[in-house]
Amino acid sequence: MIFTVVCLLALILVVNVIATGNQKLEKSLMLQKNIIDMHVHVAGVGAGDSGCYVSAELRKNWRYKTYLRSFNVTEKDLLSHGDAIVFKRVSERIDESKSIKAAVVLALDGVVDKNGELDLSRTETYVPNEFVAIETAKYSNLLYGASVNPYRHDALQRLESAARDGAVLIKWLPAIQHIDPSDEQLIPFYKKLKELDLILLTHAGGERSFTTANALLGDPERLRLPLSLGVKVVAAHAATTGKSEGEDNMERLLRMFPEYPTLYADISSLTQANKLRYLPRLLKYNISDRLVYGTDFPLINTPLVSAWYYPFRLSLRQMIQISLVKNPWDRDVLLKSALTVPTEVFLQWEDLSEKVA
Ligand SMILES: [Zn+2]
Repeated sequence: MIFTVVCLLALILVVNVIATGNQKLEKSLMLQKNIIDMHVHVAGVGAGDSGCYVSAELRKNWRYKTYLRSFNVTEKDLLSHGDAIVFKRVSERIDESKSIKAAVVLALDGVVDKNGELDLSRTETYVPNEFVAIETAKYSNLLYGASVNPYRHDALQRLESAARDGAVLIKWLPAIQHIDPSDEQLIPFYKKLKELDLILLTHAGGERSFTTANALLGDPERLRLPLSLGVKVVAAHAATTGKSEGEDNMERLLRMFPEYPTLYADISSLTQANKLRYLPRLLKYNISDRLVYGTDFPLINTPLVSAWYYPFRLSLRQMIQISLVKNPWDRDVLLKSALTVPTEVFLQWEDLSEKVA
């Protein structure tokens, strides 16, 4: 038995050395501290009058405890210091990072009822714009990412106040917020986004971070409407996972790039254990001028992501070095750059958004 295990380990080691050669870690990205992470989540339970909400169902789910741990807070911390503590912890860790200059922290609007009012009974997580605007303004390394459900009766005014408060983008999670991006009723919303020069960061592809989701709404083909109106659209996670009409969502997204010059995709979550096959495929497409760096924090700080999942693409030395890095952002930058994500992608955000100082 022991002999078999030793033989197996030796075989993995030999294959590892042959497959990965003597690659060196990309160190230059680390030292310049000029990367912006465009995809960072926060959450709260409503403590300190934050207005945040987590459904009782999600609160019972294993995901809730994992998320708190990865934010480096406990439920007791939230209750005694208020939900704002999450921003403080995120800001401190970005400050400590050798690679990341700032992060866009995302609000998350809820589900809307027939009258265009927030419907908390159908919402799993709600992070209000006002809370994110106030908290991000306290830290020079946090940027404000607003979220507006376009079916709210005052959606256009909400876009205007988000822009006034310094929002750099609007985030959607269509499968959770029940938004159909191809709905022609949304045309005034799209025109307002364009007028205010706000980027639409919208989740595309499958969705597993919540307990329920409407997969049909993650079909990248539904983004043709905002793209045809000239809205800058970033397809979160490059539409990885899931199929629509029997075809891989990512493939459906990729063929749209030549057609729409304002289409981008972020590379957040692409190092997760359930998505290992996607990043090499995406990088083959030669669209690095349309890929944007994001982490989907806190998920990069959970067992879903590890350098040890890449024994055939990284050397043993790389896997050890990356795993030993404490800062979750630095670990993510090192992992993605070792997986040959071009430098251009890490620095794309500033080109995409002229609003970032
Ligand atoms: Zn996300």
